[in-house]
Amino acid sequence: MASKSTHLRQRSGAQASKRKQGKVSLVGAGPGDLGLVTLRAKECVERADVIVYDHLANPEMLGWAREDAEITYAGKRAGEHALSQDEINALLVEKARAGKQVVRLKGGDPFVFGRGAEEAKAIVDAGIEFEVVPGITSAIAGPAYAGIPVTHRAENSHVTFFTGHQDPAKTESSIDFSALARLGGTQVMLMGVDRLESITREMMGKGVRADLPVALVRWATTGRQETLTGTLGNIAQRVVDVGFETPAVAVFGHVVSLRKDLNWYEKRPLSGRRIVVTRTRKQAGALSSQLRALGADVFELPTIRIEPPTNLREFAEVVQDAHAYDWIVFTSPNGVEAFFEIFYKLYDDAREMGGAKIAAIGSSTAQRVKDFHLHVDLQPEEFVAEAVVREFEKQGVENLRILLARAEKARDVLSKELSRLGAIVDEGFAYRTVPETRDITGARRRLLDEGADLITFTSSSTVENFLALGLPWPPGMRVASIGPVTSKTARDHGLKVEVEARRHDIDGLVEAIRKFFEEEDANG
Ligand code: SAH
Repeated sequence: MASKSTHLRQRSGAQASKRKQGKVSLVGAGPGDLGLVTLRAKECVERADVIVYDHLANPEMLGWAREDAEITYAGKRAGEHALSQDEINALLVEKARAGKQVVRLKGGDPFVFGRGAEEAKAIVDAGIEFEVVPGITSAIAGPAYAGIPVTHRAENSHVTFFTGHQDPAKTESSIDFSALARLGGTQVMLMGVDRLESITREMMGKGVRADLPVALVRWATTGRQETLTGTLGNIAQRVVDVGFETPAVAVFGHVVSLRKDLNWYEKRPLSGRRIVVTRTRKQAGALSSQLRALGADVFELPTIRIEPPTNLREFAEVVQDAHAYDWIVFTSPNGVEAFFEIFYKLYDDAREMGGAKIAAIGSSTAQRVKDFHLHVDLQPEEFVAEAVVREFEKQGVENLRILLARAEKARDVLSKELSRLGAIVDEGFAYRTVPETRDITGARRRLLDEGADLITFTSSSTVENFLALGLPWPPGMRVASIGPVTSKTARDHGLKVEVEARRHDIDGLVEAIRKFFEEEDANG
């Protein structure tokens, strides 16, 4: 069945290329914070056949892409060859000509100092349809997240954006420093932080006061944002002293002094904390976004991936006979999804379920069943298989036919126990979990390069799956667990659990983490 759907997809791809040309969307990825991406940009990523992205585009956005989207990194990375501008242009044109929907993701806004104009021109020259999706530029968002309003009625009446880097082909500086000096107001510089010494010297040479406040905002709007403040006279030296690194935006102007009251982003409870979230890509969302909202720098590290079962045909046959069972038991949301995906390929009427009753382990499993507009007849209070067995024991299941829809290689307590109670049990392997070896978002690389303060485990399998990756344990990384069962698994593997949620859900875990760091901050 897997091969059938791939086949269908390929066919429709080929038809599309005959019918119509592709299109290139130049999409602003915003400054880094996922919440600052436009709805239109998200839609483009979700639909794209091909995505070409840059160093400054937050790679977490790629999690929105289709599983089969073709994703190319076009930026520079240590030791790797980056695509040249000509190669990027050629790639966009080639893919669009092949009938693809191409998304060119660029940090901030595509037309603000990002060579977006050059790419757009190449696309138009090739006769290819294109669109621009503006993004929030770092020139605005950087200052805002550092608590610096770029305008203030009492301070200035204009803002200038300029670049500290020029076209390397030009020999003379194209920045008119005397004009900038006369203009005053707020001036925001992109790029060029590595040339700050000569830039500030030029500015002072043209008469700008040495005590003009200056701020540099690094990795603005992300969990690793840092701001360095100073004056025109001392900022270049301060950069050297603290080893301040790019990418950063620089703000020159009196508005910088407003930061002392308005700095909000860097003061949130988990600001500066690097936290690892280990779940499958699709499930990580809620935990990550809550931690990010509190200021954490979250590394979303998928450890496993859900794949169709080894024998999909066999599972499909079981699903086809669903109506023949007295009970269908679901042990996970993935099982529910796999079951109904096949069910609705086979049937177009929910009544084909017949009289089968449904049991679900765990509230999210039950919720997935309800999403398909089916009633959950049995949902044990506790989240474990043993609780289901107790419930069935109360009801009596002798000679009843029960279908267990579950993962390959999962614990088979249920099947054994229900058979012991006299039920006729069939197991349907709905899916299997495999180790996630890809590192699409770069989270794994960051974890290895930069380390982390804390790792979260939301189930025993997240512990096991993380350890199975065999990554070196970053020095000082502590463990937070969602509850006693998960903690026990962690301890059994020799880990020390420093944080355990009181309420065993995502909210409870986030609360516990927040308290933990609050206490740590209080104790210095
Ligand atoms: N089109 C982008 C700018 C591209 S030029 C935009 O609109 O933001 C690249 C420069 O942008 C970097 O050198 C840096 O100065 C700035 N920049 C982009 N994202 C940034 C971020 N998150 N934090 C700080 N500076 C950023």
